[in-house]
Amino acid sequence: MADGLFETLDYLREIGFTELDASCVAKASGPRSATDGMDESFRERRAVLEALAASAVGCDKCGLAAKRKSVVFGSGNPDADLMFVGEGPGAEEDRQGLPFVGPAGALLTKIIEAIGLEREDVYIANIVKCRPPGNRDPSPEEASACREYLEGQIDLVKPRVLVALGRVAAQNLLGLDRPLGRMRGAWYEVRGVPTRATYHPAALLRNTGFKRPTWEDMQVVRDRLQQPTDC
Ligand code: SF4
Repeated sequence: MADGLFETLDYLREIGFTELDASCVAKASGPRSATDGMDESFRERRAVLEALAASAVGCDKCGLAAKRKSVVFGSGNPDADLMFVGEGPGAEEDRQGLPFVGPAGALLTKIIEAIGLEREDVYIANIVKCRPPGNRDPSPEEASACREYLEGQIDLVKPRVLVALGRVAAQNLLGLDRPLGRMRGAWYEVRGVPTRATYHPAALLRNTGFKRPTWEDMQVVRDRLQQPTDC
């Protein structure tokens, strides 16, 4: 087994996932011949993300486990420069097991395309991985219980920019108790990643007046992504 697998296991244990073993990560890595030539760091991070997702499937760390159909862990490019974080799965996401499907998901895809990316280029996750009944906001206890998964995703994807979608996601990610309007328009840092807050696509569907400020936010994000990296 490659040294990297031991390192990834150590990482998972550090963030609290003690029940994973090397075979879990090795299995998630896939056959070595299938990824020959792929950057080793990327291969390792993808494997650990898959192992983390597998560990979430049986999670019952909060009460949202009781009524879920699916654990909606996240989707997209594990090597993404841009990562979006919403608040939690809705009914359709719960049914399909994927984040941001349905009309709000389609609008998010358009927003991504408007800044010159494809949906497959980005990574998408939520504050909580299981659906809050009736689409209520996740409680602070639920968000806290699920935080390790989100932090694992941020650390493993290592995006260049994070975007919080909506008030609930922004408040949880940034640790601020403010209206969204007072969180927009500034850069923050979450786990070392520059972070911006904007409106949730579902809010844009309800109120078209939010489209312009969202576009302004996304232009700032696009410009940041186009800046050269340090390395
Ligand atoms: S919301 Fe998160 S912490 Fe709660 S049961 Fe689902 S995966 Fe576990």
